[in-house]
Amino acid sequence: MTAPLLRRASRGHWVGDGFPVRTLFSYDDGPTISPFLLLDYAAPQHFAPAATPRGVGPHPHRGFSTVTIVFAGELAHRDSAGHGGTIGPGDVQWMTAANGVVHEEFHSEAFTRTGGALEMVQLWVNLPAKAKRSPPSYQDVRAAATPTVPLPDGAGRVRVIAGTFAGQIAPARAATPVALWDVALADGAELPLASLPSTWTRMLLVRRGAVHAEGVQAGPAELLHWAPGTATSDVRATTAGTEAVLLAGEPLAEPVVGYGPFVMNPRAEIAEAIADFERGAMGRL
Ligand code: MN
Repeated sequence: MTAPLLRRASRGHWVGDGFPVRTLFSYDDGPTISPFLLLDYAAPQHFAPAATPRGVGPHPHRGFSTVTIVFAGELAHRDSAGHGGTIGPGDVQWMTAANGVVHEEFHSEAFTRTGGALEMVQLWVNLPAKAKRSPPSYQDVRAAATPTVPLPDGAGRVRVIAGTFAGQIAPARAATPVALWDVALADGAELPLASLPSTWTRMLLVRRGAVHAEGVQAGPAELLHWAPGTATSDVRATTAGTEAVLLAGEPLAEPVVGYGPFVMNPRAEIAEAIADFERGAMGRL
């Protein structure tokens, strides 16, 4: 048993004018977060009704996937590959930028008009070098299509967004082995993590309530991190109504060179990405 590392962000920042996020880790944190690159968490925040959607206008990505999970509110997305959609509570958008897209991310028109609480996660999942220059793709994963596994004795439930849990296979497809679970736990309930290989990176983002793992306590907007090669400790909820997101994946044994919205392998590919974006090769909105 190894005590997990506790990650937290002492302060937040805004992505555009729509997303008040805390960055729990980023690609500058080194190989123990692989295959993940970045996690932004927007804890519940109320937005007043408005006439103009808040969010972030056209910007590029290359070399990875952005995975957006909405817990409250509604988002609208549009990209230069012709993909788009509106996602609400429980829905997930798995946007694989690969060779490059330009996209925009805003509150939906309806949510903008009514206002209300917004809560969401955006996770960046790296692509292996051989897939970084593939054409972009898009998966729209609806809450209704996501299997939900009840835990025994009313201990909670696991919604399987990616990977598998208790024999249930998630609809989202990742380029390399990844698990992504939306977890709810009753007071005292244990989260079964034994199915996840200890060679994988494993993380748990707490959204509500609190969990305890090998002497480490994590509360809202805090993240537990087990590095590849360490045994996962038992994780137990210590309050009723605990909710968390489990992310786990097989590390990629490849160099990571990131520059803003581009994450490649050798540094020369960053200059190429910037040049390709500037000449419009990632498309336009
Ligand atoms: Mn983006």
